[in-house]
Amino acid sequence: MSLATFENYFLPGNGREVVALLQEYGERALILAGGSFVHGLAARDLLSGVDVFIDIQKLGLANIVTDPDGLQVGAMTRFTDFEKVPEIQNDPGWGAVKDALSYPPAQIMNAATVGGSIAAVCPYFDLPTALLAVGGKVKVESNTGSREINLKDFSTSLFESSLGVDEFVTGLVLPQPVSGSVSAFIKLATNANDLAIVNVAVQINLDRSGVCRSASVALGGGVNEITLRSAAAEKLLEGQKLTDELMKAAGTAVQVDISPMADHRASAEYRSAMASVLTERALQRAIARLTRSS
Ligand SMILES: Cc1cc2nc3c(=O)[nH]c(=O)nc-3n(C[C@H](O)[C@H](O)[C@H](O)COP(=O)(O)OP(=O)(O)OC[C@H]3O[C@@H](n4cnc5c(N)ncnc54)[C@H](O)[C@@H]3O)c2cc1C
Repeated sequence: MSLATFENYFLPGNGREVVALLQEYGERALILAGGSFVHGLAARDLLSGVDVFIDIQKLGLANIVTDPDGLQVGAMTRFTDFEKVPEIQNDPGWGAVKDALSYPPAQIMNAATVGGSIAAVCPYFDLPTALLAVGGKVKVESNTGSREINLKDFSTSLFESSLGVDEFVTGLVLPQPVSGSVSAFIKLATNANDLAIVNVAVQINLDRSGVCRSASVALGGGVNEITLRSAAAEKLLEGQKLTDELMKAAGTAVQVDISPMADHRASAEYRSAMASVLTERALQRAIARLTRSS
């Protein structure tokens, strides 16, 4: 099936119209943002039952606002514009986001949107893993108004989210990292254009004596049906000095929380082993960044 065969194409001018269309067409309707994922679904004939497109490019959702509380990023912000935000480039607390945005090929950087990356609920994407580690929240709008959903609670199962039938994503909120925070992201893939076999993002905050005040460890790339946080690794790190041994142990601890999938990219056993290795390396990368920024 080609996207060009769709007869029901809508280009609403505001959020109310989007919600009304979602209510009218329900499961038949699909929101179109950058189209980079939707095109892949169409090419593989995975859009059966969908015959309505709601293109949200006219909603004015490509804005980015910086304030003392953090960043407000419109859903239609392209990866390339997100990457250029000075705070993303310079604040080590958002280093994981900067890292994740260094992987996609140029075509995807120019087409993919932040909202589409989140709303696709694809466990193989990189950006959502980084956003999860830095405490991102999703802004959504529906008939009853708007609300925020913690990214932690957004994915419910493979390709499924907690969005209601008439809800859509309007933006992302990234809380300002606590002073002294650092984060890092790392991805394992078969080649530069491929989706992740495993990806890991961490954000840590250390006190002056080097004791970990808070830790966030997020994993994606098929280590589970959804991108997730490892409570076991976080618990192990918090309140401790981050020695090499402890970071290795945190890598081992993620095994408690993951349930890797097997596919053409990797076996479940390989993903499992790599999840531990990448967690340790992401922590090492974050620590190295801390040393450089102090
Ligand atoms: C060749 C290739 C390489 C890639 N490499 C990477 C990579 O290195 N790292 C990485 O992170 N990702 C990568 N990706 C994935 C890419 O990030 C996603 O395809 C992209 O983020 C999806 O965003 P989009 O705006 O194109 O969404 P679309 O394709 O338009 O939509 C995606 C899904 O989300 C829904 N949707 C979109 N916006 C909204 C909204 N505002 N509210 C509700 N639902 C919505 C759509 O209905 C659809 O189901 C790659 C993809 C390709 C094809």
